[in-house]
Amino acid sequence: MSRIQTLINRLEDLKSEFGDWAFKQAVQSIRNRRLDNRHREHRKRFPWSKYQALYRRQQGICPLCREAMVLLRGQVEIDHKDPNRPEGFNDADNLQLTHRACNRRKSSRSIYEQAKKGGKSIIQCL
Ligand SMILES: [Zn+2]
Repeated sequence: MSRIQTLINRLEDLKSEFGDWAFKQAVQSIRNRRLDNRHREHRKRFPWSKYQALYRRQQGICPLCREAMVLLRGQVEIDHKDPNRPEGFNDADNLQLTHRACNRRKSSRSIYEQAKKGGKSIIQCL
């Protein structure tokens, strides 16, 4: 018997032991964890030169509040415009430099939107 077939048989056993509902919940939970990990891997620390390049491109303006930014560490952050983009996540066209405070406001809003869209609770999206 192949390894995959062995695994399928064991999963079938677990499914009948725990019931359909619990089995589905567990599979879904593993799947979600994979997605989250993949996104986390994609997030990287950008060199300061990246901040400077974005600052120049945006002429020092924060796209979230349209106000001027001061290019200082801790004051500005690199934001992913589309946090769920599967490819080109760290490409320049998916990045923007924002005030740290504006970015924090945006991420709490997008977590709320993600939860609403996926029919999940906010806790599940964190
Ligand atoms: Zn701002």
